[in-house]
Amino acid sequence: MNNKIYNYNIKIMMNLMNPKYCLCGCKNLTKWNGNNYSNYLIGHSFKNKILSEKHKFKISESHKGLFRFLETRLKISKALRSINKGKKFSIEHNYKISKALKGKKLSDERKHKISESLKGKLLSEETKKKLSEIHKGRILSEELKKKLSNSHIKLHKEYPNLKKDASERMKKLWKNKEFVEKRLESFNRSPNNFAIEFNNFLQLKIEFNNFLQLNFPNEWKYTGDFSFWIGRKNPDFVNINGKKVCIEIYNEYFKVKNYSSTNEYIKNRSNHFLKYGWKTIFVNQKEFIYDKKLVLEKISKRIN
Ligand SMILES: [Zn+2]
Repeated sequence: MNNKIYNYNIKIMMNLMNPKYCLCGCKNLTKWNGNNYSNYLIGHSFKNKILSEKHKFKISESHKGLFRFLETRLKISKALRSINKGKKFSIEHNYKISKALKGKKLSDERKHKISESLKGKLLSEETKKKLSEIHKGRILSEELKKKLSNSHIKLHKEYPNLKKDASERMKKLWKNKEFVEKRLESFNRSPNNFAIEFNNFLQLKIEFNNFLQLNFPNEWKYTGDFSFWIGRKNPDFVNINGKKVCIEIYNEYFKVKNYSSTNEYIKNRSNHFLKYGWKTIFVNQKEFIYDKKLVLEKISKRIN
């Protein structure tokens, strides 16, 4: 391959491997624009701009009397918070905002219009998840946050080498010709599909991590960021509660295409970890998306 193109591709690949979180603070990963990840998700950059009074008035007018779903409330309060960062609200102002957010009494006509407009609108997966989390009272409590940070400390105690050479390893990996070529090959075939898949899969891993932390506090740590290695292979999650068990979440696009079949991939991978005394739980991304109960059972069985 031409050296210049090769270097250019490496540069893009490095960008690809370093996704960005939206700068508005919403904790979502941004989209790939062909060379880089954008700084903001579409529509999120306005949150950080100071809105003119007229604009603010327009927004507040357009929202008056609107049916407010929990999520919208959260979004608005979040947006307000970041717009007004560092600017203390007067008590009066706070009161006005909270009153406005509680929603005005709707006229029957208005209600009808709104219900018509909502018909057939499906909630996004994200909204559904948020709502279900809110219903379950599962938004991270301070206590849980503390637990999570403790588990982090615990892991580092148990595996002191964890953080030490993460970046070293990454650098080495990028000097590994086979690694680079495999990635370049799939990248060159279709850079944007690769980026989309990569981003989606990463997003999924983040969701899976949340799922693990909520259902098994103090049990699992995400190590797919190359922070932990078992004999030159990097597991996605490892148990931090005394069991030599790791979890691999895989999808066809990234993992299986390097093997002749899913079974081949599972066999190869689990044998490798077993050599070092680690058992592996495999979770297909589709399983996680469509059958969380099954995944829960699978993992519970292994750690209880
Ligand atoms: Zn954002």
